[in-house]
Amino acid sequence: MNATTARGHRPGDIAWMAGGACLNRGDLPWIADPEHTTAWDLLAMGALCQDCTVRSDCAGYATSEKVTAGFWAGSHRDPDAPNVFAGPGWAAETLPGLAGLGGAA
Ligand code: SF4
Repeated sequence: MNATTARGHRPGDIAWMAGGACLNRGDLPWIADPEHTTAWDLLAMGALCQDCTVRSDCAGYATSEKVTAGFWAGSHRDPDAPNVFAGPGWAAETLPGLAGLGGAA
């Protein structure tokens, strides 16, 4: 995922939120605690953020407001959020009934 350049945030300015790609994806756990967020959820939210037209505003807001929860501008803001992509994790598991597929080489 690419780094996001955070746009300067003016206090009280939240008008940019109306353009968020996440507004129509309330099915994803944007404000859930990390332990209730799967790797698939993170990939889906990250993909939406990647193409979001207000991503730099979102990153600026999250930084200036010192947000420490939820998924903003492509990453989870909880400093204690585990890295679900760090191995071995789910990707190292052999797929059930499909010996030879999946798992570490
Ligand atoms: S960058 Fe992501 S979290 Fe921020 S408004 Fe866009 S879709 Fe929502």
